[in-house]
Amino acid sequence: MEKIVALCKRRGFVFQSSEIYGGINGFWDYGPAGAELKRNIKDAWWNDVVRSRTDVVGLDASIIMHPKVWEASGHVTGFRDPMVECMKCKGRWRADQVWDEIAGSKWFESLSRQAMPKPESGSVSYDAQHLLKWAVHDGKHLAPELALVRDPQLTLSWLSEREQKQAGKSLSLPEFLSCLATSQASQTGLQTPCPVCGAALTEPRQFNLMFETHTGALRDESSKTYLRPETAQGIFANFLNVLSVSRQKVPFGIAQIGKAFRNEINPRNFTFRSREFEQMELEFFIKPGTDAEWHQRWVEERLKWYESIGLPKEKLSQYVYKKEELAHYASACVDVMFEFPFGVQELEGIAARGNFDLSQHQKFSGKSMEYFDDESKEKYIPHVVEPSAGVDRIALALLCSAYDEETTTDEKGQTETRVVMRFAPRIAPVKVAVFPLLRNKPVLVEKAKEVFKLLQRHFTTEWDDRGNIGKRYRYQDEQGTPWCVTIDFDTLGEKGPELKDTVTLRDRDTMKQERVKIADLVPLISQKLRG
Ligand code: ATP
Repeated sequence: MEKIVALCKRRGFVFQSSEIYGGINGFWDYGPAGAELKRNIKDAWWNDVVRSRTDVVGLDASIIMHPKVWEASGHVTGFRDPMVECMKCKGRWRADQVWDEIAGSKWFESLSRQAMPKPESGSVSYDAQHLLKWAVHDGKHLAPELALVRDPQLTLSWLSEREQKQAGKSLSLPEFLSCLATSQASQTGLQTPCPVCGAALTEPRQFNLMFETHTGALRDESSKTYLRPETAQGIFANFLNVLSVSRQKVPFGIAQIGKAFRNEINPRNFTFRSREFEQMELEFFIKPGTDAEWHQRWVEERLKWYESIGLPKEKLSQYVYKKEELAHYASACVDVMFEFPFGVQELEGIAARGNFDLSQHQKFSGKSMEYFDDESKEKYIPHVVEPSAGVDRIALALLCSAYDEETTTDEKGQTETRVVMRFAPRIAPVKVAVFPLLRNKPVLVEKAKEVFKLLQRHFTTEWDDRGNIGKRYRYQDEQGTPWCVTIDFDTLGEKGPELKDTVTLRDRDTMKQERVKIADLVPLISQKLRG
């Protein structure tokens, strides 16, 4: 992952937000290549979900909406994560993620390597002497606030007491680690250790993830508004408007792309969990009773779409929610998962949400959300299937799967490592780069500018005349540019008329070069782009 993060900075995909001021946690900026990449993802989605269908229309709703919207949607009371805080270093984690954090922490790694044999079948065996040795050496630096490190004798004695009470049954791993974090068990009960310093964590507290702000000059309860935590509610709140102006009938969908904000307790894994991100959401309104069928159709559509933008099938999977995991109003939910270097994680959720959202808005606004079905002559509040995807997570998945390193050997037999981003051409930030062989030969530059202008009208094209050709290729490979065009002396006809007005077209993946007529470039690249 470090290599991908470094490349993102080096090649202008992603920068830390406000980097010159030391950065701000959970916010990211997209550089020239990243901005193009994101735009291509959004264009591909908009094209495939809205423009190439007849049953979906678009919307662009405001970020700040009437606060009642968030009461109706349940976000004011329900959009909370239980959060735990370290009593010493004040680090914060989502309670449901804290054990993963501990498992990945430096102190746990060192402790399990030095003082515990591998936990078998979820239980732990340990050697008190090894624990003691770890506590007075590495533990002192890695987890200085762990009870075992602060007072090893006391912790070890009550650990063995506890084991005896268990009548020979060994402790589970969380239980064992909690024992190491607890010095006054009788007063505090078992405590969970901080993944950073080992001190005890607080009990879980509810933490609302919505960013609050105020509209207007007064800053009191009555002016309180929120930065939207999802784009979906803008769609539900506009259901009647869109229905009245579009020529749509149920089943039909409303799609929207836009920013969403969540005050995540612990932003992490690069851009994967951010506090500001972009969503691409579709609310597909359907007749009650057709939920399962439409849900299945959208799951299939969406999985195909991920392959169409170049994510490898073998890295994509589905997580099907069990009945007990579903929200009370939902009849089905499937997450599209991707195998990131840091684990298999969600890219998109596709939920069959019944008529919960429209019913809630009917209740809170007093406006009827009923739809009259011309064909069946029935009135009903439409049900909805919601495919909800995150642009930033898709961009990260593409960056991770595109990254490749290969060893190349040049004509002199020297080997070097080539880093290449193997984006599908459809999604690559720049489609074609144009180089004059030499930047100090005005005739070459002039001809290359002509070619550049020609290509620029059709594709995202980049001009590069810095350094030698080899360096320019390396730069474009790291940016994932599928094709490079070089204008050389042959183009000017210096080797004879048959090569006049031809250029070299170099392929990123095969590194092969072919001689192509300038007049053929546009149709040829267009054809390659279509695949
Ligand atoms: P998670 O469980 O990972 O927090 P979620 O299930 O709460 O995600 P949804 O509310 O279903 O996410 O949002 C739909 C999509 O929006 C997600 O699949 C994801 O792609 C994107 N998304 C949600 N939260 C974030 C975030 N903090 N940073 C980046 N993308 C996000």
